Amino acid sequence: MNDNCASPGLISVDDAITRILDAATPLQSVETVNIESALGRVLAEDITSSINVPGYDNSAMDGYVVNSKDCQQRGMTLAVSQRIPAGTTGDPLEAGTAARIFTGAPVPENANAVVMQELCEQQGNNVVINTIVKAGENVRRAGEDIARDAVVLDSGTRLRPQDMGLLASVGVAQVNVYRKLKVATFFTGDEIVEPGNELASGQIYNSNQYTLAGLLQSVGCDVVNYGIVPDTLDNTLAVMSEATSNADLVLTSGGVSVGEEDYVRIALEQLGQLNMWRIAMKPGKPVAFGQIGDCLFMGLPGNPVSVFVTFLIFARPLILKLQGANRFLADLLTIRSDFSWKKVKREEYLRVKIKQAAEGPVAELYPHQGSGVLSSASWADGLVVVEIDTQVKKGDLLPYIPFQGLF
Ligand code: AMP
Ligand code: MG
Repeated sequence: MNDNCASPGLISVDDAITRILDAATPLQSVETVNIESALGRVLAEDITSSINVPGYDNSAMDGYVVNSKDCQQRGMTLAVSQRIPAGTTGDPLEAGTAARIFTGAPVPENANAVVMQELCEQQGNNVVINTIVKAGENVRRAGEDIARDAVVLDSGTRLRPQDMGLLASVGVAQVNVYRKLKVATFFTGDEIVEPGNELASGQIYNSNQYTLAGLLQSVGCDVVNYGIVPDTLDNTLAVMSEATSNADLVLTSGGVSVGEEDYVRIALEQLGQLNMWRIAMKPGKPVAFGQIGDCLFMGLPGNPVSVFVTFLIFARPLILKLQGANRFLADLLTIRSDFSWKKVKREEYLRVKIKQAAEGPVAELYPHQGSGVLSSASWADGLVVVEIDTQVKKGDLLPYIPFQGLF
């Protein structure tokens, strides 16, 4: 993302991210969880394997286990001296014989290769091996996946499903993780109404609460919601002070512009410290970041797409860092543009869908990119980033943040 800040008085997205992350001290409290409830939790310890995986040399195939020196010509006939299903340990292989073996079963002593059954022909008690056998073939070696004492997962890893399986594969049933971040939310605006109610004239539904609820669940936070707060300074002060005394982080939407009805900024200034930034990005110019006591505060803009985008770009990395994760920024990939776009003065985060074209995947633009058009975010697969002063032409390669993997 671009550092050149073309518009005076605005700070760049990268600067804002740096300032936010610099203010974040990761949580120190740790709790122990069973691995089946560890999805999305952040490890507070390095996990070391106390065993080799696999624990013993074993067969990668259903077939016949042999010593390769007995099969240096195609078509050798060997007596079948034993049968070794998975879960049993065979006897040492008698010289000059083969043993029937199944996937996962231990390779017996004196044997060194497995021939897949498709290349073998059983004839009574004998087997004809229709191939020349190389030592080691179709044998999974002890420790080839994980060696004893190796670190399998580092402290700071956010656990994914395959990590949960990996923990189980080395016999770990419980892990120490950082506790969940406690996030309080509230939503400003006299025009905002909860879904389920009738709308009076001039009112809109509180969509931001639900976008944020989903986003916060996806990063594993405990959420306390203080609901809708009317646009008065007293109300804003009261809720802000209660929310910040009960949480590690407070997130809000709306009321951070410079309008007369925007009280979040003023309340934050009265109760704690305010860093109010106008960020050179679109959507989502104003973000109020600060602190009240030990609680961090981030006031997101009110427009529904701005809430979504600023959460992903600023709040998500902050939350992941606070939760002890060692990777917090969204992955930036590259995608070919299927559209052209005018030169911009603020970094733009356009909602796009990936479609297959003759030349490979391309980003298709949602036709209406307004910051209030939430259907653009719902339609999209991700965000294309248009850097400041760059003119996008159809076919250009652009930075791309896929939603997949973010939640
Ligand atoms: P504000 O920054 O408070 O002026 O809000 C900017 C725009 O976002 C206005 O059009 C608001 O009506 C809209 N908005 C604010 N809060 C919400 C919300 N919770 N849900 C949906 N739209 C909102
Ligand atoms: Mg408002």
